[in-house]
Amino acid sequence: MRIVFASNNAGKVREVAELLGSAAFELVPQSDCLVPEAEESGLTFVENAIIKARNACRHTGLPAIGDDSGIEVDALGGEPGIHSSRFAGENASDADNNTLLLAELAGVPDERRTARFQCVMVYLRHAEDPTPLICQGTWEGRILAEPRGSGGFGYDPLFWVPERDCSAAELDPADKNRLSHRGRALRLLAERFETQH
Ligand code: IMP
Repeated sequence: MRIVFASNNAGKVREVAELLGSAAFELVPQSDCLVPEAEESGLTFVENAIIKARNACRHTGLPAIGDDSGIEVDALGGEPGIHSSRFAGENASDADNNTLLLAELAGVPDERRTARFQCVMVYLRHAEDPTPLICQGTWEGRILAEPRGSGGFGYDPLFWVPERDCSAAELDPADKNRLSHRGRALRLLAERFETQH
């Protein structure tokens, strides 16, 4: 069985492929099927994940997994949240976003730098599926005062992981998958998938 993964983010595709590596289906990145990017017009992670998965189903005729994720920073009232990939502008790089985040938090003491990654994963059997599988994972941490580590992607160098006393960019990929918002959401999805696909 082939399932399209509705993301063009190479960091995410790598993590999801690692997590689902042993399952009984082939996960095809949407770039392999020339799926055009969907407009993330939702106000919630759930809406955006469904928009992306539905777009991939429409263009391929295959079932699809879509995800939407981001980082909520308490001192910024939960921002960047669903705007995480475009925090510093529409075509912002990870470095641009991280620079802006550090600037916005300048002078904020450690104890008020609490943050969490959120991830919603959805599985749509087809574009009009009225009962998508929807799973959410959360990862609590804190925003560091300067970047650490070179692994991962996005905000990983700024995300301090209390369970390991290091940044998310200093974790090895398997350990990140064990702890991360995406790993948690995907394991829940994999469990439900066994009986409800
Ligand atoms: P999306 O591709 O629209 O879901 O945007 C997700 C954005 O949130 C990414 O571009 C990153 O900036 C951030 N993000 C999500 N998951 C992670 C992660 O595991 N590590 C670091 N940044 C992440």
